[in-house]
Amino acid sequence: MKYKTLKGLQDILPPDISVWQQIESTAREIFRTYGYQEIRLPIMESTDVFIRSIGETSDIVEKEMYTFLDKGGRSITLRPEGTAAFVRAYVEHHLFNNPPPQKFYYMGPMFRYERPQAFRYRQFYQIGAEAMGTDDPRLDAEIISMLSAILSTIGLEGLNFEITSIGCKECRPDYIAALKAFLKDKIEDFCSDCERRYKLNPLRILDCKVPACIQSREGSPPVIDYLCSECTEHFNSLKENLDLLKVPHSINPNLVRGLDYYTKTAFEVSSESLGSQKAVAAGGRYDSMVKEFGGPPTPGIGFAIGMERIVPLINTSDDAPEGPDLFICPLDDKASEKAVLITEELRNHGLRVEINFDTAVCEQDTLYL
Ligand SMILES: [Zn+2]
Ligand SMILES: [Zn+2]
Repeated sequence: MKYKTLKGLQDILPPDISVWQQIESTAREIFRTYGYQEIRLPIMESTDVFIRSIGETSDIVEKEMYTFLDKGGRSITLRPEGTAAFVRAYVEHHLFNNPPPQKFYYMGPMFRYERPQAFRYRQFYQIGAEAMGTDDPRLDAEIISMLSAILSTIGLEGLNFEITSIGCKECRPDYIAALKAFLKDKIEDFCSDCERRYKLNPLRILDCKVPACIQSREGSPPVIDYLCSECTEHFNSLKENLDLLKVPHSINPNLVRGLDYYTKTAFEVSSESLGSQKAVAAGGRYDSMVKEFGGPPTPGIGFAIGMERIVPLINTSDDAPEGPDLFICPLDDKASEKAVLITEELRNHGLRVEINFDTAVCEQDTLYL
C-alpha cells in the first residue's frame, strides 16, 4: 500500500522551509517593534464559535468547514480562520482588562474544504495580527502600515493595497435595502444558496463564487456610497493617515470580505504575479464581535497573511545549504568514544558538528582532522 498526503494538503520540506522560517522571523521582529505579542490558540474550536461570527450564510460556514462530532458527541470545527478563535480567547481570558490597545499576533494552520488550485490548500498557514480596544482610524492606518512593512521587508514588490469601508450597524440597513432593490429582478439567475441569501443575508451574495452570481451582481451599488457620517469620517481619516505614513493605496468600493463580522475598514493586499488567486493578505475592523461573544463592547481590527501566497513570490538564493562547521571522523572504536564526547562539547559551544559513526568509512576516505 502506498500512502500519500490528502488532497489539497502539502508537505513542506527542506530547503523550502528556510523561506518559511525567514518570513516568520521577519514578521516576529516587526511585530515586536509595533508592540504585538504572540498568542497560540488551539486549531479546533466549538463549531458555534465560527458559525456565529463568520455568519451562517457565508461560503465558509455553508461549504468549507471541516466539522465533525468528537467521541463525546460535541460538534468541533478545525479553524477556517484566526479572528473568531482569537476573539473567543480574548473574551474567555478577560484580556479586555489590560490597557488598550492590546496587540496580538499568531502563526499557524487554518483549514478549509475548498477546491485545491494553485496557491490554495485545504490546510493553509496564516500569520495574523489583531489590535483591540480602540476604534481610532490611526490604529487602522498603523496596522496596515505594519503589514506593508512586513511584506516589503520579506522582499515582496509590486503589491496593491486596496481599502474600503463597509459601514456599521447604523448605515448597513440602508445599504442592504439598496442592494436588495438592485438584485430583486435577478433572483432567478442566482444559485440556490444566493436565492436563500437574498432573504437571509443579501451581503453574502456579493462574495458567492458561482459564475452566474458574479455576473448577476455586476453593477450593484457599492456600500461606500451609503456610509453614515461617522463611517465617512472614519474612512477619510484612515486615508489621510495612510498618506501620512506613505502607504500607497487605492480605494476599491467593490471590495467585499466573505465574513459577516467586519465593520468599517476592510482591506486587501494583492499581487498581480499570482494570477487569479492574487490576494496575499487581507483584514478589517470588527467592532461588534467582542460584544457578540459576551465581552464588553470592544472594537478590534486585524489582518492575516496567506503564507502559501507569499512564499512563491520570494526570490530564493540558489546557495547550497550550509554544511557543518566540523566533521569528526574517528578511525577506530576506541577513538569513537572520545570523538562522541568531543562532538557534544563542541556543540555545547554553538558549533554545528557532525560525527561519522562508521569507522570503516572513515578509514577508506582518509578524512583526518
Ligand atoms: Zn456607519
Ligand atoms: Zn450564488
